[in-house]
Amino acid sequence: MSDCGCSSISGPKLKPLEEALELLLNLAKAVEGVETLPLSECLGRVLAEPVNSQVTVPPWDNSAMDGYAINTADMKGDGTRLPVSQRIPAGASGDPLEPGTAARIFTGAPVPPNADAVVIQEVCEADGDDVIIKQPPEAGANIRRAGEDTEKDQQVIAPGTRIEPQHIGLAAAVGVGELAVYRRLKVALFSSGDELVDPGQPLGPGQIYNSNEYTLKGLLDALGCEVVSLGMVEDTFDATCEALSRAAGQADLVMTSGGVSVGEEDYLKPAVEKLGTLDMWKIAIRPGKPLAFGHIEGVPFVGTPGNPVTLFVTFCLFARPFILKMQGMTEGLTPTPLRAAIDFDWPKPDKRREFARARLQLDDQGVPRISSYRSRSSGVLSSLAWSNGLAVLPENQVLNKGDQVEFLPFSELL
Ligand code: AMP
Ligand code: MG
Repeated sequence: MSDCGCSSISGPKLKPLEEALELLLNLAKAVEGVETLPLSECLGRVLAEPVNSQVTVPPWDNSAMDGYAINTADMKGDGTRLPVSQRIPAGASGDPLEPGTAARIFTGAPVPPNADAVVIQEVCEADGDDVIIKQPPEAGANIRRAGEDTEKDQQVIAPGTRIEPQHIGLAAAVGVGELAVYRRLKVALFSSGDELVDPGQPLGPGQIYNSNEYTLKGLLDALGCEVVSLGMVEDTFDATCEALSRAAGQADLVMTSGGVSVGEEDYLKPAVEKLGTLDMWKIAIRPGKPLAFGHIEGVPFVGTPGNPVTLFVTFCLFARPFILKMQGMTEGLTPTPLRAAIDFDWPKPDKRREFARARLQLDDQGVPRISSYRSRSSGVLSSLAWSNGLAVLPENQVLNKGDQVEFLPFSELL
């Protein structure tokens, strides 16, 4: 067995999560191919070129409130009376403010030259053609300054950013109508296992429903991948080779469920080894080991274990960061944990780090608490539907109720 511990599943060495992740991420390369799309089609895509502001935002000083634009030099204390010399709604541009007068002004309208503050209408009283200002403002009050958001030509969104609604709004605000984004990552997947039947069909003896295919597709869809599903593949060496080859021929990444153990019915290992290269990593997490990673005809391959919860956890912890990097993302590849107290004891820690299906919620006092699911079985999918994240229970460490641990909310993992 090599030092990296990656040559054999039967070897004794458990690879720490951080080491496995680093190895994986070093091998992930962003897809080549950039397309320019209208803003409205960019949600979820990864930016390939910077977005630079076409304009200064706001382009001019403007009013933050409905009220009156004045010059503070004209204020004579509380109750100053000024004639109203003009009206400036949003979309208009006013004239310079005549000395000794006020301009009626509305939110977003340009502050006229010679005015240095806006008094909110709530402290004013209109009286015929005059306004009485009950409390004089400070100079600069209620004015949004030109350029306080962005300067012209300033970079406002960096390449490698996944486009969320706020980025779309920002691009529009700076006058950019289309974005250069990486093309979508194409992922081909199939499930191994002769026991599998698609939902909607009757179950025969010894059969179970193929849930992993749907979980995997959902996970990939949520990341904005283009998914090519090759369905279920017979547990034979030839069928597995044929499916792998077909998958690699049409995708940027091949993913599979099941068949990565070293049992007599597990054909993925020999099939990938025949068509390319394979590393099998026993990773020091629960649920987790093993994770299969390799290349088939130059295309990366990630094989997740068949147990439905293990598949989900290994996807979130390993495949997800790998995919994000392939999609062109440069930051936020790994989840940012929260911290909270557990509401259970953990007297028998494992030598592997446990990613426990857990729920973070507020207790009666409004304090965040982490509860764990009653079963640790990696076959119990209802545990994931019950949870809203994974609690990270450190290796070799006894924990007591009230101890703080890291919590990875699903919003950071999906
Ligand atoms: P394997 O990794 O193929 O040895 O499978 C491990 C366990 O996961 C077995 O109990 C399988 O029946 C189950 N399993 C494998 N593939 C799937 C699947 N696609 N959907 C649901 N369960 C599966
Ligand atoms: Mg199997």
